[in-house]
Amino acid sequence: MRKNLSILFVASAVLASPAAAQEDASAFLEAVDQAMGASQLNSIQISGSGWNAFVGQSYAADDDWPRAELQSYSLTIDYPSRSAREEVVLVQGDYEPEGGGQQPIVGERRSLNLVSGDHAWTLNAEGEPQAQPQAAEVRQFMIWTSPHGFIKAAQAADDTRVVARHMAAEGRTLNVVGFTTMDKYYVTGEFNDEHVLERIVTAIPNPVMGDMQVEIRYSDYRDLGNGIMFPFRYHAHQGDHPLLPVSTGRNWRDYRVSEAVPNVEDAALSVPDAVEGAEPNPVNVASTEVADGVWRIAGGSHHSIAVEFSDFIAVIEAPQNEARSEAVIAEAKRLMPGKPIRYLVNTHHHFDHLGGIRTYAAEGATIVTHDRNRYLYETVILAPQSRTLSPDRLSRFPFATTGPGPRMIETFTERHAISDGERSLLTFLLQNQDHNENMSVVYLPEPRILINADMFSGPANPDNIDPDSIPLYRNIQRLGLDIDMHVPIHGQPESHEEFERVIGPEAMQQTAAAGGG
Ligand SMILES: [Zn+2]
Repeated sequence: MRKNLSILFVASAVLASPAAAQEDASAFLEAVDQAMGASQLNSIQISGSGWNAFVGQSYAADDDWPRAELQSYSLTIDYPSRSAREEVVLVQGDYEPEGGGQQPIVGERRSLNLVSGDHAWTLNAEGEPQAQPQAAEVRQFMIWTSPHGFIKAAQAADDTRVVARHMAAEGRTLNVVGFTTMDKYYVTGEFNDEHVLERIVTAIPNPVMGDMQVEIRYSDYRDLGNGIMFPFRYHAHQGDHPLLPVSTGRNWRDYRVSEAVPNVEDAALSVPDAVEGAEPNPVNVASTEVADGVWRIAGGSHHSIAVEFSDFIAVIEAPQNEARSEAVIAEAKRLMPGKPIRYLVNTHHHFDHLGGIRTYAAEGATIVTHDRNRYLYETVILAPQSRTLSPDRLSRFPFATTGPGPRMIETFTERHAISDGERSLLTFLLQNQDHNENMSVVYLPEPRILINADMFSGPANPDNIDPDSIPLYRNIQRLGLDIDMHVPIHGQPESHEEFERVIGPEAMQQTAAAGGG
């Protein structure tokens, strides 16, 4: 009896060692390869259709992402060359054009995403390659989240482990394989008792969410011959978070495969000369003083406006990411030396307008936003949480949890004012518009400037009126704002006279058509 116990003890000690765990993993992956045919597959070409959602562009802060019809989806992966070609064709379809993502989609919207090893690019309308170096890493990583890519990467990794996990809700036990790939991304895959991959859980870097969770579910496996099993249903989430009350999760993409062809010829992509050696564009900042002490800091696709007060600076909008915000902060301090940035006013919660608020929080600024954004911003975005994939200033220079500085946020429901006794900056919630439940505009009474995001971008063009500029027009009337100039977050400044001339008649016509409503 005593002898048996000691043998048991030795056996379990061996099993618990890392080397044994990896041996278990390689035996398990061999069984997986048998079941799914990964080593039989060098390339795959699939096509299908379903729906696709705009990540970070929800109407309300706690909504699921808004969707559009994925009219066609095609993907070709070549594993040995680490290359992939993905074509996405979206139409609005039966989906409500609510939220951001430049909806409604008129006609079809096509995007082509190419990657080969460490290079990413797309083709412009003339078919010329356009380098996309910032996209290369995640695009290559997505190859290793394809069903057979996962197995190949797990077999190649040196830290692969397999653990058993009981799923109480389903009454079954799965085997979960986890490993690090590309020296950075940790990815796990859940396998059923037939050694078939059902779900991937991993994370990609995102300026708003940090290590943003990605979940991919594979189902409806079919036999493609040669021992290759391929899933004909793809369902994925991006941005799920345990503290966000979205019961359905944050759904990103769903499609059914209509055709899957294994081992297609000439699937490998070669990197075009124009893409080889391309570097990410440096952050460009170009500022102009649009009124006394009011600076428009442009230079990219999204601008910020910095306003000088007697002993502080207020900045409107922290778009895109930390790199842009660092450049805008440096420019504002150069223009208005010796004054701290006390406020960052955020117009709405869409990720492209939100990616820099952590940088302003790290700077010590108070974030001003609508009250319905408070939970998301305080609990998730500004909170200390994992940012291992792309550390930022706030994660590297954290505030003491009980110290004087963390997570300063000021919220409002209808109207917010910042003032030094002489100058004021007013923020108003817009009503009756579809872009974002919490969309707000900023009004500077003394220079009579209105700042909006995504509702109206100058110059006013009678041939291309943004449908969102109609509700903006009505809200200006409702609030009785006396405006000289629009300084929008996108596009060029425009006089209110010209805004009236172009948008006014269209707004009147729509009001008349709606019976005066
Ligand atoms: Zn938006």
